[in-house]
Amino acid sequence: MKMKIKKVAVIGTGTLGTQIAIHSSFHGYEVSAYDPDEKAFQKVLEMIKVRVANSNREPTLSLEEIQNQSKKIQLGKSLEEAVRGADLVIEAIPEDLELKRRIFKEIEKYGSEKAILATNSSSIPVSRIENATKRPEKCLNLHFYSLDLGRNIVDVMGGTKTSTEIMEAGKEWVRSIGCIPLTVKKELLGFCFNRVWRAIKRETLHMWAGGFVDFRDIDRGWMVWTGMSQGPFGVMDAVGLDVVYGIEKVYYDESKDPRDHPPEPLKAMVDRNELGVKTGKGFYTYPNPEYKKPDFLKA
Ligand code: NAD
Repeated sequence: MKMKIKKVAVIGTGTLGTQIAIHSSFHGYEVSAYDPDEKAFQKVLEMIKVRVANSNREPTLSLEEIQNQSKKIQLGKSLEEAVRGADLVIEAIPEDLELKRRIFKEIEKYGSEKAILATNSSSIPVSRIENATKRPEKCLNLHFYSLDLGRNIVDVMGGTKTSTEIMEAGKEWVRSIGCIPLTVKKELLGFCFNRVWRAIKRETLHMWAGGFVDFRDIDRGWMVWTGMSQGPFGVMDAVGLDVVYGIEKVYYDESKDPRDHPPEPLKAMVDRNELGVKTGKGFYTYPNPEYKKPDFLKA
């Protein structure tokens, strides 16, 4: 029988959770959310509005629509309240395996037996989380990209026991909120497009950290070559350098290859709270990063 999703619960309303909640609400779903930081949703909402206003991408929602949808999202006082009656629960909490396993257990405890349990993790395959629950057949990765509410892609990957019905329901939901599902047929660390992006991150971070090249020159090259408005370092600043560090660490923990270890200078930036756009300083300073200035690409 085809699964019908009506209510979506988002756990963690940080950079990604807030965008997922707004996307879903805009496309007609009833959306509830929970974050222990009660100010997180509003804080991220303001940040996203600034980013949408300054984005070169075609926005799928106007600023007014974002504001209207944000008011429809029911912010729960507890996880229990947020997941009640949800057909799909998607977590977007920090990239920490033990934390995610704990949250999946809680979602299973308080949520509907039929609910799909999804993780938005950037690097952890759901096969490592699924056995924290008794419903591995209902678990899957639904990995959104941080595209400021623009046209989005979503990696969809099952675990060891995910049913075909749940995979199909997940993909259909992704399409129903105006996003494009990218199906991963066999478990792969980093999923589909994320793995392509990861190769670029690893290479450029090591070129910078090893003192071989100024990060601005890497971004200049990228911007001219691809015609994009940001280079890899500008994008990493937007993602958040703590998130980037955490993801690189997961790849290293998997391979134990020293070439995969996130470089120490990146860790030092995270320790100094230089996290990128969200703290006003990362590789660039915000709100007016150097790469947006007209002479950045002048010969
Ligand atoms: P974030 O730090 O912006 O947000 C995480 C939120 O989770 C915070 O608001 C925090 O208060 C909340 N949180 C912490 N503990 C919680 C708990 N026990 N219950 C509920 N909420 C809790 O992080 P983010 O960038 O949104 O990343 C979240 C997830 O999405 C990570 O797994 C990350 O790998 C993934 N992701 C991030 C990006 C990105 O570009 N930032 C892209 C794709 C996927």
